[in-house]
This record gives sequence, C-alpha cells and structure tokens, in this order.
Amino acid sequence: MKNPALKITFLGTGTSSGVPIIGCHCPVCTSGNPKDNRLRSSILVESATTKVVVDTGPDFRQQMLRAGNEHLDAVVYTHAHMDHVSGLDEVRPYNYSQKKALPLYATKVTQDALKHIFYYAFEEKRFPGIPQVELHTIDSDPFRIGDIEFLPVRVWHYKMPVLGFRMGSFTYITDVNGIDDDQKELIKGSEVLVLDALGKIKHMSHYSLQEAIAVVRELKIPQVFFTHIGHSMGLHDTVEREMPAGMHLAYDGLVLDIDACP
Ligand SMILES: [Zn+2]
Ligand SMILES: [Zn+2]
Repeated sequence: MKNPALKITFLGTGTSSGVPIIGCHCPVCTSGNPKDNRLRSSILVESATTKVVVDTGPDFRQQMLRAGNEHLDAVVYTHAHMDHVSGLDEVRPYNYSQKKALPLYATKVTQDALKHIFYYAFEEKRFPGIPQVELHTIDSDPFRIGDIEFLPVRVWHYKMPVLGFRMGSFTYITDVNGIDDDQKELIKGSEVLVLDALGKIKHMSHYSLQEAIAVVRELKIPQVFFTHIGHSMGLHDTVEREMPAGMHLAYDGLVLDIDACP
C-alpha cells in the first residue's frame, strides 16, 4: 500500500473513563507521572500536506489545543461509542478558520448514530454556529484523504463491528476483542501496530494485555504500541519495563515517525 511518510501523535491513550478516574485513589489514578494521565483514545495522522484525526472523543478540544493543531482536513471514525465521538461539536473552530464543512468518514452504522446524537447538525433548518460537517461513507474499501490512503480493517468489539485503519506500514486498531482471520491478513506486514489493551484483567469487549500480546505474536508485527488503557493496567513505567521486546504501552503525547511506503 502506497503512502507518504506519516507523523502519528497519540492525542489520548485512555479507556472510556480516562485516567485518572473521578474519585479513584488507586496508585495509577494518583500517580504524579504524566504518562499515567490518559485522555480518551485518539490519534492525529499527518503527512506533509494532510492532517486527519481518528475519532473525536470528549477530550477533542483539549487534545487539539495540547497538540497545537490549527488545521484539520478530516475526521475518520472507528465506531460511535461516546468516548470516540462525543467531541464532534468541538470541530466548530475548524469550520470558522477553514470556512467550510469538515469531512467525516464513517460507516453507515456510525453515521446513523452520529445523526441521532448530534441531530441538530444534520437538520434541514440549522441554528447558526452549529458544527458543519460533510459525511463520507466508508466500509471495507480503501479510501484516500489528501495523499493518505486508508485501508479499513473490520474488527469485533464484543458484538459491535469497529473499523481499524491501515495506512501504509502503520495500522491503528482500538476497541477490539476479536479479529477474523481474513482481517488479520490485512494487518500482517505492518511495521508498526497500535492495538487495544485495556488492562491486566479479562474484559468482554476489549483485549486484555495478555490477549493483545498473543495477537501481536501471531501477526509477527515488529513494533507495537498498546492503547485504550485503563487504570487496571498498572503504573506506566512499571508495566513498560515488563513488556516483551518490540512492545510498548503508548502514552499521551507520544509521536511516531512512519517511513513512506513506496
Ligand atoms: Zn473506546
Ligand atoms: Zn467502544
């Protein structure tokens, strides 16, 4: 798959509650290490000419400010759970500065949920100042935003279909606890994989760290970063020291440089 060199910024690496959790006094939630503070999971994907965000969770505004990101070409959605969509209203500053609607790439199912949650943005007669968005339907076929090509990877989040995305040698998959064999073939050959690993305890809709490590070993991906992390994972620095070769916990603000794929 052809793709330009990409810069990937982890805007958030936390599970749906974020870390710390309100009112929790566990060692992770009270840690002074910034790597133990995790906003909701999202990445910024940048080529020299194109900037795309994957998901707009509840921390979207804070994440864009923190990353100093003043331009956005599109949003790509994995699925319509609140921790991945609820910041959609905050795209308005990009509408004002770019003077046009922001393209959103999502499956039909995700679009239906967006239209329900953010009904006011999709009405015929719309209140001035509400977000201006333009829906683009995606399914299993590759699609292109600017010079970046996306290959959707369909995975399971309990019984909910979720999209991961392969961009050249880089693959991002959040919110998953099952991947069918034909979709595993799409991931194989990636140099860098970002994969859901909620924590050390088995969960009904997310891979545990142990399950995620088993998938990585099966797919033989050389460099892996786990995301969508909850407080049950433990302290970042402690878990990082225990990780197998080539595998890491992602953390907010981590930047990866991905080579071009000719
Ligand atoms: Zn999630
Ligand atoms: Zn989810």
